[in-house]
Amino acid sequence: MREDINVDSLRKRLEERQKTILAGKEAQKKENAVVELDQARVGRLTRMDAMQQQAMVQAAARLIDIERQRIQTALSRIQSGEYGYCILCDEEIAEKRLQFDPSLLTCITCAKEAEKK
Ligand SMILES: [Zn+2]
Repeated sequence: MREDINVDSLRKRLEERQKTILAGKEAQKKENAVVELDQARVGRLTRMDAMQQQAMVQAAARLIDIERQRIQTALSRIQSGEYGYCILCDEEIAEKRLQFDPSLLTCITCAKEAEKK
């Protein structure tokens, strides 16, 4: 367990974000249902409109899903005492990175390495 970072406050931020994401998912489900209804009822959207809209919604949902998984991993690593260490190389993750986004799981070196691929 890292002694140099405030794991408790970071955990609270992770849990808050997790709640927001879960609440957002529910809201989005309802929104999707509304779009489908509208389209069926009045044919307000062309097929192309609907497909574009759906693609955007799906892309956004994928990003949120990735973040949700990162948060889950971060929280379980807090429990196991591995939080704050890079999942790829085991080096300490800079506190500044964790303050910026507590769900980051890799050090700056590995993050840059991953970006190249
Ligand atoms: Zn690393």
